[in-house]
Amino acid sequence: MPHHTYPHFRRLDIAREALDLGARRSVVQLITGISEGELRRVFGACPALTTNWGGRPSSVEKLFQGRQIHLHASDFYNGFHHLFHRGVPPDEAMVAAYRHYHGRHAGDARLGFDRAFSVVTSVCRLWTTAAPSLRPLRCNACGALFLAPIGTSEHDETPCTYCKVAKRLARHDRGLSNDVSDRVRSSPPFQLAGMTASRTSAMGASSTPVQ
Ligand SMILES: [Zn+2]
Repeated sequence: MPHHTYPHFRRLDIAREALDLGARRSVVQLITGISEGELRRVFGACPALTTNWGGRPSSVEKLFQGRQIHLHASDFYNGFHHLFHRGVPPDEAMVAAYRHYHGRHAGDARLGFDRAFSVVTSVCRLWTTAAPSLRPLRCNACGALFLAPIGTSEHDETPCTYCKVAKRLARHDRGLSNDVSDRVRSSPPFQLAGMTASRTSAMGASSTPVQ
């Protein structure tokens, strides 16, 4: 992203990229602070402004109803966390982390930009006055950062999202005949940011909170 002397031009760049990545107008306004009138003046021809009218960003409750969407949310958040806690401004971190997440899952990005935005606002007090409802925890077993409801204790024995999937895959592999197992193993692995250990290290996972 080019660096501008004038902060307003920088915000316009972020707005353009967010719109390109599928953000709805209300989310772009929250991230950049640019008014609806100016967004329409500058990006009037952008399809996102005419087909995506705004409304509230998606709820994060659904993140815990499906394993894949939860994994994708944690994957996106790993990128955001890395940038934001190294001093990248939140608006830039949001767009850059989503762009990288989207690139890693080309053709299979389960998490839309608006829901990714909701993930950030549910973890951090950014662009909202609401209390956080999610917290990031670092898994001591695999090293990944995963999202858990705010009430989750680091003393819980429940393994992290990634370890749960690894355990399930291990059980699945054992239950399959050899030829089917070979097919599963040869399929492309899910790309997980922050995943540092093999999926067989899942047993006995615990977690620690992350700032
Ligand atoms: Zn883990």
